[in-house]
Amino acid sequence: MSEMGKRPEIDPEGALRLLDETAKTAGEWLAALPERDVVASATTEELREALGGALNEEGEPASDVVRNFARAAERGLVASPGPRYFGFVTGGALPASLAADWLASAWDQNAVLFVSSPAASVAEEVVSSWLLDLLGLPADSSVGLVTGCQMANFTCLAAARHEVLRKAGWDVEADGLCGAPRITVVAGEEAHATLLVALRMLGLGERNVFAIPADEQGRMIPSALKEALENVSEPLIVCLQAGNVNSGAFDPCAELVPLAKAKGAWVHVDGAFGLWGALLPELAAHTEGIGLADSWATDAHKWLNVPYDSGIAIVRNEAAHRASMTLKAPYYIAAPGAVRDPSQWVPESSRRARVFPLYCALRSLGKNGLREMIARNCAQARLMASLLAEDPGIRILNDVVLNQALVRFIPPRGGDADAFTRLVASKVQEEGTCWAGGSVWKGMAAMRISVSNWSTTDTDIRRSAAAIRGVLAGVSQFAESE
Ligand SMILES: *Cc1c(COP(=O)(O)O)cnc(C)c1O
Repeated sequence: MSEMGKRPEIDPEGALRLLDETAKTAGEWLAALPERDVVASATTEELREALGGALNEEGEPASDVVRNFARAAERGLVASPGPRYFGFVTGGALPASLAADWLASAWDQNAVLFVSSPAASVAEEVVSSWLLDLLGLPADSSVGLVTGCQMANFTCLAAARHEVLRKAGWDVEADGLCGAPRITVVAGEEAHATLLVALRMLGLGERNVFAIPADEQGRMIPSALKEALENVSEPLIVCLQAGNVNSGAFDPCAELVPLAKAKGAWVHVDGAFGLWGALLPELAAHTEGIGLADSWATDAHKWLNVPYDSGIAIVRNEAAHRASMTLKAPYYIAAPGAVRDPSQWVPESSRRARVFPLYCALRSLGKNGLREMIARNCAQARLMASLLAEDPGIRILNDVVLNQALVRFIPPRGGDADAFTRLVASKVQEEGTCWAGGSVWKGMAAMRISVSNWSTTDTDIRRSAAAIRGVLAGVSQFAESE
């Protein structure tokens, strides 16, 4: 039995030693990352065995706990921050942002109110203005730092819901949705699943969304939006997309936003990674008109390469943003004057100071470095697509306009290309040089390649393309000899 009231000993030197040891463990991971097999090596059962068992009755020394935990978890880790992980849309962690993330934990600031962490509040203020400048969005927009793009979509759409109902004479924060004027929600048929989840959580429902057809690249078709809007009126929310999660394509905002605005709509853009395309002048034809919208959701943990969790919600109408998120309690000390209470812009109350890694990521890259990183990943996606397209057994299904390439494998003697594509993709994953996930594009099975990591080199791309072609050759040979 432990003594009542006994607390762990305060031992600053021991704590420092533990952090040093842990830094060493983390350093070993980082050093191995470029050459480590991308997939986890342990089975689920092995992980349950390594991590499981009943919780100990008595506490254990911190250094033993952390060392043993790291050893037990290690074989279940995925080298997703490494240079040859092309699954989902996955960034790594820039060194400055990783170090700042450690500080955020060590400092353990509660970025809820100005008074609970003036440093977090002011850093948010500064990062917000940097982001608006970088992305070319209205300088007086408000910014909320959330956990990811799903919550960024949620935050932006909560502001949208507030505003379109306010215009209809309804206070949704006070009175809820029961009896409220019905909101028409329009989105592309290619809208990301998380946008629909955001709508669902806001009580707007998934089934009520008018889905607008997309073209062969996944871009919303303007004439189809125009037609759909003919018979609708306010309250109206139109959701567009910058960067299709499969093809990377952009909805043509320059055409679409004015159509929606003419109907009095609030226009929201989901730009989880594609919004960063606004940094590249060469993409202007794709990104033009994005800035005309009312709200924008993006991620920092994808293409900006900060550690999870980091999403960004940006709203042109500061009053709507604040009204939808503000929380009040008698003991909450409101920020004096013109300083920022971070929680007024996000769904959470208490939260980590996720702004610190974001701040340091942006500083370490600078404007030019950030632009260069985005441009480099786009060029690498094109390089990957062109190397793969040299193989007669591979088709690239999309125009590689951003950092995404969609790959289809063609069976050598004809037959089911969907099953063959899924088979080759799973063998690519097993082979371990790189990792790419599967998807379905326009009814066809495809393998998705997303190049979103700061540390990926052209050599990584060449090596991965060779590995993919090698896997295809092996599977094709096997299929031939069957
Ligand atoms: C990844 C993604 C999201 C969701 O982002 P999370 O950070 O996973 O919440 C939303 N929209 C698009 C287009 C995405 O690619």
